[in-house]
Amino acid sequence: MDIVEFDPTDPLLSKARNRLMHLVNRRTPTGCWLVKPTGASRAYGRLMVNRDYDLAHRWSYRIYFGPIPAGHRVFRTCRTDNCVAPEHLYARKAEPRTRVAFDRRRTNRPRAKLTWESVALIRASTNTDTALAEEYGVHRVTIRDVRSFKSWVTR
Ligand SMILES: [Zn+2]
Repeated sequence: MDIVEFDPTDPLLSKARNRLMHLVNRRTPTGCWLVKPTGASRAYGRLMVNRDYDLAHRWSYRIYFGPIPAGHRVFRTCRTDNCVAPEHLYARKAEPRTRVAFDRRRTNRPRAKLTWESVALIRASTNTDTALAEEYGVHRVTIRDVRSFKSWVTR
């Protein structure tokens, strides 16, 4: 099936597409487009386009389907962390599970609530620390430490 770009004339998207295609280093028989793991999160390709830093699969979604609807997250049907194949991507309303999972007994160990994926999303996000803290059910300082690479750093 031919994949049609959302808007091939958009300069930002075509730039993003070039970057994305450079990151893709393998296509599987099941249709996955695999990107090289980058950055601290390892499994997730990340892409900087102009000053917009985001996960590679989110860029792929924008390139082929258009803007990600507000409050939605982009998932993969193939459940492969580093796949950016547009045919495998779909956006779904983010479930408030992080807030449901918020457990007062764990407030002293906020790190336990984050995952490498959420850390990558936090670092890629342009939201405020406060907004992200609420979204992920952690303290604002936790978000700040993640963003400044004081925590969740691989050595
Ligand atoms: Zn895939």
